[in-house]
Amino acid sequence: MLRTLSFSLIVLSIIFTLKSAQSLELSEDPMEVEDVVPSSAEEEDAKQNTPEEIGDDENEETSDDNIAPDIDLKEITPPTIVVVQQPAEEEKQKSTEEAIEEAIEPIEDDNTDELTVLPLELLNSKILPGTSTRLAWNPETSFSGLSLSTPVLVLHGAEPGPVLCLTAAVHGDELNGIEVVRTVMYDVDPEKLAGSIIGVPIVNLQGFQRNTRFMSDRRDLNRFFPGNANGSLASRVAHSLFTNIITKCDLLVDIHTGSFKRTNLAQVRADMSDPEVVKFTEGFDEMVVVHSTGRNGMLRYEAKEIGVKSVTFELGESSFLQKEQVDAGVNGIFGLLKKQEMYSKRFDWGSPSPVYFDSKWLRVSDAGILFSEVELGDRVKEGELLGTVTDPITNESFDVSSTINGMIIGMAINQVVMPGFAAYHIGIEASEEELMEKAEDTSLMEGETPPEN
Ligand SMILES: [Zn+2]
Repeated sequence: MLRTLSFSLIVLSIIFTLKSAQSLELSEDPMEVEDVVPSSAEEEDAKQNTPEEIGDDENEETSDDNIAPDIDLKEITPPTIVVVQQPAEEEKQKSTEEAIEEAIEPIEDDNTDELTVLPLELLNSKILPGTSTRLAWNPETSFSGLSLSTPVLVLHGAEPGPVLCLTAAVHGDELNGIEVVRTVMYDVDPEKLAGSIIGVPIVNLQGFQRNTRFMSDRRDLNRFFPGNANGSLASRVAHSLFTNIITKCDLLVDIHTGSFKRTNLAQVRADMSDPEVVKFTEGFDEMVVVHSTGRNGMLRYEAKEIGVKSVTFELGESSFLQKEQVDAGVNGIFGLLKKQEMYSKRFDWGSPSPVYFDSKWLRVSDAGILFSEVELGDRVKEGELLGTVTDPITNESFDVSSTINGMIIGMAINQVVMPGFAAYHIGIEASEEELMEKAEDTSLMEGETPPEN
């Protein structure tokens, strides 16, 4: 009897010890802590990541109130809203060039010592190495009481490396990218990450809420970068994203879908005349890479202009969430993270490799109802029937045939079309070198700028 009692006591005391250990762990979890000042254990971590040449003063600076709470992005919690302060009047007077120049400077300083992992400064917050958080970016375009804060997810790795930015839904009805950003951001452990990932899953929150490509002023946001603090609504949002986020990036993947009732095979659009961008494309595993220079006002184009290596993803069609397309996008990003030596999560064999394509758009010559005979990814031969356009009144039918051998990398969804409508985007496989050579001489690129993004 006595023996049983003492045994029970031992068991009880073990349970008690385990429980108190557990609750201690929980209370150390910053999720549970109201105050955003890190626990002493975290400060210790921060010190370990801070090299000796940084004085104690600097160290103290990192533990001020601006330190972003370390949030495990896998946990479901309400977003942490950090409202960006309204810029002072003199800030508003600054030209876009001045604002960009100013915003870029600190990054150059950070890169001077490769071994240094300093807290990442973003949106008035400091994110400690090895932590992740949710912030919000406020484009200040509405009544202050009604202003929409756009969520920004941040992973700041424990190891040094580049800053990769992922932006989606610059067009509010392009949904696949939102899911790509979510999947990547919630799947990467910042303690095993070299460099940082900044994800803005829904850039055009106004358009997203109304399921439209456009801003509430009916402008296309992707024609207004780098924007202007005193310009139109679209221009202001563009300026705000550009100066607050894009200037902090080394690499940018801006995720889109086909537009105006067209769908795209998962693909990378890149300016193959720029060797830096070409190198960047080499990480996108099993994706189609299509040359496209982009143009003034587009996020990819303007980010490249300030030295951010940038590409666009095109994944499927707008207004839908397509698992296959999302998976291709996520796989592409993880291939990139591996190639950039930022993160390696899978058992994979060999190095990532994309397939390069030159491309050409085929336009229909007749008006009517388009029905396609082919699907995305199909290989087609010159003369092969791609679809038919039928006049619904006269019943006259016209064939649309391929003029080249290639692969369907983008196409129109069945719909009513008018003469001149770009219906099929055909990719012609080329080596990386061939494509680079051709891209340099723009007169050789047969495919005119596609109705892009
Ligand atoms: Zn788009």
